[in-house]
Amino acid sequence: MFADRAKIYVRSGKGGDGHVSFRREKYVPNGGPDGGDGGDGGSVIFEVDEGLNTLTDFRHIRKYCAKDGEPGNKRNCRGKNGTDIVIKVPEGTVLREEESGKIIADMSGKNRRMVLLTGGRGGNGNQHYATSTMQAPKYAQPGQPAKELNLLMELKCIADVGLVGFPNVGKSTLLSRVTNARPKIANYHFTTLNPHLGVVDMDEGGFVIADIPGLIEGASDGVGLGHDFLRHIERTRVIIHMVDAAGTEGRDPVEDIYAINKELAAYNEEIAKRPQVIGANKIDAIYDGDGEDPIKRLKEEFEPQGIQVFPISAVSGKGIKELLYAVKEKLDAIHEPPIIFEPEMIPDEVLRVSNEPFEVTYDEKEDEYVVEGPRIERMLGYTNLESEKGFAFFQKFLKDNEILDELERLGIKEGDTVRMYGLKFDYYK
Ligand code: GDP
Ligand code: MG
Repeated sequence: MFADRAKIYVRSGKGGDGHVSFRREKYVPNGGPDGGDGGDGGSVIFEVDEGLNTLTDFRHIRKYCAKDGEPGNKRNCRGKNGTDIVIKVPEGTVLREEESGKIIADMSGKNRRMVLLTGGRGGNGNQHYATSTMQAPKYAQPGQPAKELNLLMELKCIADVGLVGFPNVGKSTLLSRVTNARPKIANYHFTTLNPHLGVVDMDEGGFVIADIPGLIEGASDGVGLGHDFLRHIERTRVIIHMVDAAGTEGRDPVEDIYAINKELAAYNEEIAKRPQVIGANKIDAIYDGDGEDPIKRLKEEFEPQGIQVFPISAVSGKGIKELLYAVKEKLDAIHEPPIIFEPEMIPDEVLRVSNEPFEVTYDEKEDEYVVEGPRIERMLGYTNLESEKGFAFFQKFLKDNEILDELERLGIKEGDTVRMYGLKFDYYK
């Protein structure tokens, strides 16, 4: 089970509906409208929490809903706002819309807190709709609907340096030696399934190292564990390539480096181009007379390509200082800001909806059906009914907003008259 990916469902709160009521006072037979506004729905907020470094929790709890706003009440009472839901994530969490895979937010760098879905606004009570021609409005604004999203979360660590290599070459041992992290060290494959981060303290400022475990051949094809881990390396700027120079498990260090670089390039060309250094580990286990000196072989192979080779022993500590200084130098030579992913979509825009109220009634005296309310007024304001296109739009509007259904429900028949703000139409299906 890998905890650096999770799927969750988030939902903002619905706005409370506006209320319809009229003042009732002694000796005042027809009081004015006094329906209160609905409260706003709660928002869905994401926040970076320094104390977190996995997405494990999100595999257990998958639904995150803010509270709905309460409806308005009589005597102009406003409904209570719904409480927000604050979702805490580790730094480096990238949020995508599940279906399209588009990035919505990258919780990294300066982005420590963001409102992903705003709660629905509470609707206006009928007190807002009294006009000179409409003294007793029987409609109020419904609250804006809730917004929902299915999210794919991915943790892409923010680390300056990525530590890569086949299992058992000594990555965890090195990390535990040079940083304040305490990773599990064990002599079997795939122990460390989450990347371990550690801070290397140096005189002139430290840097963050991530042990990227589980990088194996075929990783870039999604074979085995690889793909989940490659994700973490995307943001690192310098790569320490670890090999078992002593070949204690019978691996060939030169081949290993080519194999892993091939995986990196297949996953993302950019990563393969980043500065690398080689940590030729376990030199304490290299004995004279074992055949060709593996350090010499590594140097001859890679130094002409501009990749420095550092013989080290993660166990004894030999050579580690030189390796770290070389890494620091490479980091200092890079001046670009950290890699932050740009959002590719804005959920609020996609999900925007109209929620102005409207009302459909039957006027017995005139034998006409009446459609009125702010939504209708607004629509008529920007539609040119004289044009063919405008009229087609108007008809679609009546259908989409279920106004036709409402007229049918009231018993309208072919040829009956519909009145809307001074306009009159004959009803035909
Ligand atoms: P990882 O899978 O790359 O994280 O490797 P580990 O750090 O868990 O180490 C795997 C095994 O190699 C452990 O048994 C370590 O004790 C051993 N090891 C690590 N570094 C050295 C070293 O410098 N010399 C020797 N002789 N063994 C080492
Ligand atoms: Mg390890």
